Amino acid sequence: MKKLIVALLGMLSIPLAVARPAATPALPVTAREQLNATLWLQRATEYELATLQVYRLATERLTTVIAAPGSAATEQWGVAATQFATLPTAIVVDLDETVLDNTYYQARQLLQGREYDEASWQAWMQEAAATAIPGAVEFLRLAAAAGHRIFYVTNRLCQRLESSPDDPCPARTATLRNLRVLGLPNLDDPESLMLRGERPQWSSSDKSVRRSAIAERYRIVALVGDDLRDFVDRSVFESRRGELTHLFGTRWFLLPNPIYGSWERELTSGACAPSMSAADCGAQTLKRKYQQLKPQPGVRPTP
Ligand SMILES: [Mg+2]
Repeated sequence: MKKLIVALLGMLSIPLAVARPAATPALPVTAREQLNATLWLQRATEYELATLQVYRLATERLTTVIAAPGSAATEQWGVAATQFATLPTAIVVDLDETVLDNTYYQARQLLQGREYDEASWQAWMQEAAATAIPGAVEFLRLAAAAGHRIFYVTNRLCQRLESSPDDPCPARTATLRNLRVLGLPNLDDPESLMLRGERPQWSSSDKSVRRSAIAERYRIVALVGDDLRDFVDRSVFESRRGELTHLFGTRWFLLPNPIYGSWERELTSGACAPSMSAADCGAQTLKRKYQQLKPQPGVRPTP
């Protein structure tokens, strides 16, 4: 077969050197690993259809479950129904990979052989160039028009940047600019956007504290996100799985995200020691992921 290929290339006057694959760039293992996930979000029609499907379901629920009594937020479940009757309704949405598509950033990092880091992420946010996840703008505009207040609760980090010394929260400024360009509703009130670290009590990536703050003045009727923590803490979900699962597709609407999230951090937690080099950390992370694959019960994996 090899001889045949060489002969065919000779007939086509293609030098053998051109026929060989280019050398693999020296990319970090974890970044290289994200290639398929990033391509799926950017290129797979299936992803676009999946997000449209989620937002179509949420739109249908606007006039039924979402408008019905009760709360979507576990933080609000102890409140009496009579107290709810006086509260306006709110829908709480995450931003990244829920409303905003950041895959240009992911692709940029991959093409440069770099992994995620806070500095490059902050620089990307300042560009305010994220596009909209299919279906998100239409759903949120309909929800706002139906009288629900929209809260954007994001783990984008509010911190001072050397490039904007006079702005206490450049991530907020840039994110608002991005959301306005995309035509999202309820942006005139500064309280609509809640970033991580914007207030001392909001320093955690756990969004429960921020949902509780909203719950003081609104009845939260729906949650939308791409990470379990956009709805409830992971450990809470595991301990109350039977009670909470039915909320997905009724009051909780979950977008797919295979690139990153607390699901991945949970699998690889503790794989890297603080003293490790980036390369060693990448190798250990990858090793940990292989260890997390589920072998078929009763079948010994091939060494
Ligand atoms: Mg997200």
